[in-house]
Amino acid sequence: MTWLSLQNSSVSNSPPISQESKGSYQVLARKWRPQAFKDVIGQEVMIQILSNALKSDRLGHAFILTGERGVGKTTTARILARAINCVGRSLKDTVEPCGVCGPCVDILEERHLDVIEMDAASHTSVDDIREIISSCRYLPSSAAYKVYIIDEVHMLSKNAFNALLKTLEEPPPHVKFIFATTEIHKVPITILSRCCRFDLKRISTEAMGTYLKSVVAQEESNVEDDAIALIARFADGSLRDAMSLLDQALNMFQRTGEGSAETSFLTANHVRDMVGAFENAEIITLFEALHRGEISKTLKMTENFYQKGGDTARLMKDLLDVTYILSRLKVDPMLDLGLRTKEDQAHLQALSKALSVPVLQRTWQILSKGWEEVRSSPIAALALQMVLMRLGYIQDLPPLHSWPSFSQIEKQEDTKADTKEMSVDLSEETPVQRESQEVKEERPIENGENIISFENLEEISDFLLKHKEIRLYTLLYQEAHLIEMKDGSLTLRLNFGEDTKSHLQLARVLTTLTHRKWTVHLSQETGQATLREKKEALEKARLVEAQQDPLVQEVLKTFKEARVEKIIDEPKEE
Ligand SMILES: [Zn+2]
Repeated sequence: MTWLSLQNSSVSNSPPISQESKGSYQVLARKWRPQAFKDVIGQEVMIQILSNALKSDRLGHAFILTGERGVGKTTTARILARAINCVGRSLKDTVEPCGVCGPCVDILEERHLDVIEMDAASHTSVDDIREIISSCRYLPSSAAYKVYIIDEVHMLSKNAFNALLKTLEEPPPHVKFIFATTEIHKVPITILSRCCRFDLKRISTEAMGTYLKSVVAQEESNVEDDAIALIARFADGSLRDAMSLLDQALNMFQRTGEGSAETSFLTANHVRDMVGAFENAEIITLFEALHRGEISKTLKMTENFYQKGGDTARLMKDLLDVTYILSRLKVDPMLDLGLRTKEDQAHLQALSKALSVPVLQRTWQILSKGWEEVRSSPIAALALQMVLMRLGYIQDLPPLHSWPSFSQIEKQEDTKADTKEMSVDLSEETPVQRESQEVKEERPIENGENIISFENLEEISDFLLKHKEIRLYTLLYQEAHLIEMKDGSLTLRLNFGEDTKSHLQLARVLTTLTHRKWTVHLSQETGQATLREKKEALEKARLVEAQQDPLVQEVLKTFKEARVEKIIDEPKEE
């Protein structure tokens, strides 16, 4: 059954749906609004306390529920109003409203005379409150208690709060107040001290995912788990937002016609397109490019993103998200990131290793400030690019803390030599800083014990690779023709001629790393083939040799299409 045809059918599922849903179309958030305490997700502590109070008949006369929007404040208030006034409970040990008795049905349909709901955002004046106070004096018309639900209570004026205070101090026994607010700090302390306060938590992504899955299953919609996970993440703790996103995504999916086929599923990409967000992998790539200082690449990426209708504030939030995750991984490298793919997880772990804590902190600050700028800018797309450029260029600046002392560098170099793994060098040490260190260390130290010598050019290139001098390694491997190699001296011809200072840089780095003086000269002589050419020639020769092998010949004869492509050595036994 498709989702559309379901809208007009009556469904008997738990959580129960309200009467209206049988008629016209109802948004999911409303349709699936919890009607019992057990259906309120993510607020177990509050539900437990309320249940205990109801059971032991020791319920206070005023409550204040606070929390982010969409976490269930008003929903809880309404369930509580029904639980207080329900007369249909047969069992004594349950506190849930029965849902079928007179008061339950009337409150659910918002037409019970004794349950008054007021939005303080539009009723801020003292007169509005006076009206409530005067009606408090009369006994409830049919229910056990008069219940006043005041939403966004922090919006009340100072006078309104003062007027309310007297009633809160000496409330009539037949009256209960339930306040809800997103901004508890704006509620006077005198009011707070007379209320039983509940802080509703943001709903965790996991709990939200589980709940959305159950809704999707009961709606019999085809939605991929990845799409649900993404909606849960975008909703940022607000269940109402999550339900709206799901609603919107399903509507779009249906409208495009894709959703009408029973075999097609709403995917994470549909959700991303709707919200205007990058894929995880793209965000991580963008983040990495920024930290490599590849500014023009990042600007191109964001331009494409914006042209496709991407949400700039969303992008900033995603970048902040990545910054946070990388910092978390610094503290806890094996942290399971849950929703992300294995490749994304590996990519993030590698990035986290490569970036230092100060760099991540700085990134966080720039992005946080930038987010405000982007949100308040009349030209958000340009503001976004300005922030990214700032972030990109700042990677070239030396870090704020002072440079390490000479002995520290020496130690650093030693430990560096010990690490065998090769990773992208994005660390705090910027090219600018590295060069300055080398200048400082120009003075060579001839130390008998630590002397490092090389037999051939290949050993030097391997040595550079081991020390993550990727650019110089590439230079030696691909561009350098060896003419002469002596103790502490190299003569080379470089493919691109003499117009660079690369050979000076090479001498400096070798001097630093080997603790002895190195000089590198350039010459016009032809010299030997480059290391790369040599390696390629060697591989070619081996390929020819392999083809002569009788066994290989046999294979080639049997399989007409077969070719010898590559030779892979068997792993050496230790
Ligand atoms: Zn009832």
